[in-house]
Parts: sequence; structure tokens; C-alpha cells
Amino acid sequence: MSDINELYQQVILDHNKNPRNFGELNDATNVAGGHNPLCGDHIDVYARVEGGIIKEIKFKGAGCAISKASASIMTTLVIGKTISQTKKLFDDFIHIVTTDINSKCDTLELGKLAVFCGVREFPARVKCASLAWHTMMKAIQKSDSDNRKISTEDLVAAS
Ligand code: ZN
Repeated sequence: MSDINELYQQVILDHNKNPRNFGELNDATNVAGGHNPLCGDHIDVYARVEGGIIKEIKFKGAGCAISKASASIMTTLVIGKTISQTKKLFDDFIHIVTTDINSKCDTLELGKLAVFCGVREFPARVKCASLAWHTMMKAIQKSDSDNRKISTEDLVAAS
């Protein structure tokens, strides 16, 4: 394992041990639940979306270290972001964890998402890592007063 992967593993262990934004959000506008039957991971995502911006986001659930750490890291990345910025982050994340393992992981370009580069070396863990991201997308794509109309295409993408 390279030094950089070792560093990322430390980040994941840290987020698993001390998950950020863990718990329920009482004034959430958008809520969704997700389940990964392959591993038994469960996650609920609570977001407060105002004016098309994720003002607050929290998660609750139980699962393996990767699923929990990924959820924790996800919340820190999308908080304060617009829905379209979040959609872009989600696409980048999915690309990172599903791309060819021999392709280069450009840490400068990926920024904080680079922590997920190691996940693609463990295909069985991809569903664990992406559970929170899919659940978050499902939550924010639900229509709310100041958001936008839900589209069926978005729902298909989240399943
Ligand atoms: Zn898992």
C-alpha cells in the first residue's frame, strides 16, 4: 500500500471513530433512508435545504467502517453547497469509486474526494462507500417548498 493510501486510510478510520454531523436533524426539510443488503449497512440522511443550498446535513445509521466514514466525509463535503454543486460532487465520487483501478487518482484535481481513491481497490466495498451518497441524493431530490420540482429521471438515478 502506498503512503498516500495509508494516509487516506487514517482519514477513514478517523471519520469512523469520530463521525461528523452524526444524529438526527429536527428541522430537516429532506429526509431519505438507504440500505445496502450486501453488507447490512443502514443510513438515514437528514438535510435542511433552503434556497437551493444545503444549510445543514446529518446522518444516522449503523454499518461497517467504510459506510459510516463515507457518510461522515460526505456530510462535510456537501454542507453549504448548492444542489447543482452537490450533484457534481456525487458524479465525481461515483466516477472515483467505479473507475479502472489502474487509472491515476489526481489528488490535486479531486481535492477531499481523493480519500475515496482507495475504495475502488475493494470492489465489495464500493456499495458501502456509495450508500450514503445515494441516500443523500435521494433526500435532496425530494421536492420541498423552495427547492425544485422532482423529476422521475432523478429518482431512477438514485435507485
Ligand atoms: Zn458495508
